[in-house]
Amino acid sequence: MKTERAYYEHPGADPLQAEILELRPWQDKTALILDKTIFYPEGGGQSADRGTINGVPLLDVQEEGEEILHIVSPGEGATLRPGPGELVLDTIRRRDFTVHHTAQHLLSGTILRLTGFPTVSMHLGDEVCTIDVDAPAFPEETIIAVEEAVQDAVEADAPVVIHLCPPENLGDFPLRKVPPQGEEIIRVVEIRGNDFSPCCGTHLASTGPIGILRILGAEKYKGKTRISFIAGRRVLRDSRLLRKNGDIASRALKVPVAETGPGVLALLDRMKELERRLKTLEEENAAVKAAALLKNAGLLVGEGDSPGRGILLSASFPEAGMDEVLAIGRAAQKLTGALIVLASEGEFKFAAFCSDKKAHLPSILKDPMEAQGGHGGGGPSFFQGAFPGRQELERFLAALPKTF
Ligand SMILES: [Zn+2]
Repeated sequence: MKTERAYYEHPGADPLQAEILELRPWQDKTALILDKTIFYPEGGGQSADRGTINGVPLLDVQEEGEEILHIVSPGEGATLRPGPGELVLDTIRRRDFTVHHTAQHLLSGTILRLTGFPTVSMHLGDEVCTIDVDAPAFPEETIIAVEEAVQDAVEADAPVVIHLCPPENLGDFPLRKVPPQGEEIIRVVEIRGNDFSPCCGTHLASTGPIGILRILGAEKYKGKTRISFIAGRRVLRDSRLLRKNGDIASRALKVPVAETGPGVLALLDRMKELERRLKTLEEENAAVKAAALLKNAGLLVGEGDSPGRGILLSASFPEAGMDEVLAIGRAAQKLTGALIVLASEGEFKFAAFCSDKKAHLPSILKDPMEAQGGHGGGGPSFFQGAFPGRQELERFLAALPKTF
């Protein structure tokens, strides 16, 4: 059954009375066939409309041959019957897509005119819209030139004219892209003074209501350039969000909003410098703690005759995390031949270090560790493990031999 298409003439909020002709299962949902519709079906790069039919929310609108399928959930579909249907359009969503579709024509036409690069595909997303342009690069000065030229056309409020044209007369128009084949009538959308493009989507009557268009980025994509953009109220929302974040950054950095970019970079440089300084201080701190530990135990190289070979020294740190424990161990390893077992009490973990080539840490530590329910591993000179709780860690440390 052919559905009469009233979506071009009916972009407003007032309901349209139609006839529900048929309900049928469609995938795991229900499809309604109407005698006519105000809902645009997905196609030509534009998403399907939303709205309600007799109060039931529309999930999707798809085109199948000459029929248009109005998709609703099966539960909601069960409340509908063939007969009169009141169609109400989600005008905010339709308006947003119409603005962006018209903006896309204007953008693609302007890019072609200024740079010679054609648009090869487009996508109108719910958040951001994109076009792929057959251009090897798209520098910032080109982006600005394109935005300014688009704004000129928006402010001139150029008329958008629809030409319904048989294929044999298409030569009358300098079309920007190849028209569809096999159609009896081709719909040519003209933006006066800017662009001619075959298109079945919904468009504004003139360019003024686009308001403003912003190019958000131009990235290399599969040998072409993908340009992302927003227009109309999305620019307003985006500007609000950027200003809000700009104000937060401005207050935190104590610089004007216009200088927050350099301000953040300067802050990051300062942070990196402080991190380098902190790392040096942490290493120095670990070396001091390691030397104190070994000196107390009489195992410091240069203290007496023995550098600690054959001795096992364990120590437990209530405050230090494993990062600090590992730093102390690495420092201590350079100062003694003893086997050092260091634990973080808060994390129930330990690490063991030994510079003595004769030592083999797994054969010394694995059994006592597993006896307390711990797990871990390592090589001849380094070994680490973890326990389920503090008691197990303490029992492990207490059970260690004093020599190896
Ligand atoms: Zn279009």
